Amino acid sequence: MADLPNFVAVDWNGTVVPFFHEPPYPGAIEVLHRWREAGVLVVVVSHASQFTIEADVERTGLQADTVLGVHDKAPAFLELRLRLGAGVALGDHPADLRAALEAELPFFQARLDGQPAFAGTTSSFSDWREMDHLLRKVGA
Ligand SMILES: [Mg+2]
Repeated sequence: MADLPNFVAVDWNGTVVPFFHEPPYPGAIEVLHRWREAGVLVVVVSHASQFTIEADVERTGLQADTVLGVHDKAPAFLELRLRLGAGVALGDHPADLRAALEAELPFFQARLDGQPAFAGTTSSFSDWREMDHLLRKVGA
């Protein structure tokens, strides 16, 4: 779809789930699945071991295109952008924002537990269901 990015790089803890082993935030899995059905590659990028993040993604039933456990997200984001083109990053931590800025990806801050917005974010959301609308504004 021309108005959607090619990929979404999504953080896990604090963004899709509050933390490993906990139920996903309302709407998170459904929204990600809708994007995927629309042709957006869903890439989970977590500061975790590959085994830990893969196991937790599988637990939730999320169908992701790629699951990456990384020490530093910036190189992973940059590699995705260079390989896949237009994308966006979603996360809840200042380190996620820094990595997105470094890779020149628009950043959407997850504020699902009522956190204040960071300076420098492209946009933010406090409910996953808002993201269906927001994502359409950043596509090519
Ligand atoms: Mg997080």
